[in-house]
Amino acid sequence: MKYYSLNHNAPKASFKEAVIQGLASDRGLYFPESIHPLAPEFFENIENLSDEEIAFAAIQQFVGDEIPETELKNIINETLCFDFPVVKVEKDIYSLELFHGPTMAFKDVGARFMSRCLGYFNKDNKDAKNTVLVATSGDTGGAVASGFLGVKGVDVVILYPSGKVSDIQEKQLTTLGQNVKALEVDGVFDDCQDMVKKAFLDPSLTHKNLTSANSINIARWLPQMFYIFFAYKALKKENKPLVISCPSGNFGNICAGIMAKKLGLPIAHFVASTNVNDTVPRFLEKGQYEPKPSIATISNAMDVGNPSNFIRIQELYNNDLKAFEKDFSSYSYTDADTLEAMKTIYKTDGYIAEPHGAVGYLGLKKELQRFDGGVGVFLETAHPIKFLDVVEPALDITLPIPTQIESVLGKEKESTKIATYEELKAFLNSIA
Ligand SMILES: *Cc1c(COP(=O)(O)O)cnc(C)c1O
Repeated sequence: MKYYSLNHNAPKASFKEAVIQGLASDRGLYFPESIHPLAPEFFENIENLSDEEIAFAAIQQFVGDEIPETELKNIINETLCFDFPVVKVEKDIYSLELFHGPTMAFKDVGARFMSRCLGYFNKDNKDAKNTVLVATSGDTGGAVASGFLGVKGVDVVILYPSGKVSDIQEKQLTTLGQNVKALEVDGVFDDCQDMVKKAFLDPSLTHKNLTSANSINIARWLPQMFYIFFAYKALKKENKPLVISCPSGNFGNICAGIMAKKLGLPIAHFVASTNVNDTVPRFLEKGQYEPKPSIATISNAMDVGNPSNFIRIQELYNNDLKAFEKDFSSYSYTDADTLEAMKTIYKTDGYIAEPHGAVGYLGLKKELQRFDGGVGVFLETAHPIKFLDVVEPALDITLPIPTQIESVLGKEKESTKIATYEELKAFLNSIA
């Protein structure tokens, strides 16, 4: 499979090249040259397939022959080392729980898949070193740190906005040590993301073999299709139009969901639910894409003012806004809406949703008013414990600490404070 740059000013890349480079040389995101729907029999028979078989069928065309079949199956097995339960919350509303992995966030899937692909591509190349450079608004950092910990030949450098991630998130990305380094940036997430983008284009850093592990990297982005297939498999017997609501920040998750639909998965409608960082809902209302600086909210992993994957979604619809709007809605919610939803879900359904999931729930509820007879799934993208500062007081409960989290809480934070791009560069040059 070849990938082209969405800026159309860079050579085409193989899967391997696209994974290693992250971003094309013209700063464009990579996009697959072709998308072939899966056979109708696959969907007719999906309930008889294992998660691993489904994942293999979904991703194989995007990897092509660049990773041998048995190797790709191993990578998938290691990626899917936990469950993806679809839990009934209320009539016709389900939560797809994506938080049962090592860092209790859905990003474990993409991070584990990507690290193992990179590990495979690096295995014959013992002297070459890659530096994975990541900006995180919360969960990416921990998932990437855990996914890449100890991978030979790879340094991981994580930039996060100082004081704008939760304590647990901070512990998850600053306490692992080994090949994982954390940079605490005096700024917001967009500042971190801008610095990372700048580093990729800086010719004086090319010797570093920088790659990204944000959802701009195809190996982080594409495996996020898997669990949309799993949700369909779980709810197929309901025989109702299926609506999927993704709490969205950089729009990688929802973009992978739409890719699953392009492969033939019968999803009736997608909802991108956002907090007050509403660049996409405003675009759908006004027809104009106007990014703005991000605003801090209680669903901080979605505090993104200029969602990087939105351009991929537009490409999936050939920039045809009418066709796009038929499949896709986007709604924005305030922190007050989110807190109220968390309380309602807890009181009436006995379900504990954290802020991102609650935003997803709100968008789903709204869309299901239009979709008479539909059944809906919102993605629960993180475990409530990761947002305990919000969840515990809002619901007046105390959450038991899961073992995955307990193991990092007692550890010492190690980070380096930076404020400018020059400081990032100096840091990158200082590591071997
Ligand atoms: C990253 C993240 C999101 C947003 O996902 P995107 O793919 O960036 O839209 C939502 N919820 C949580 C908990 C996250 O960590």
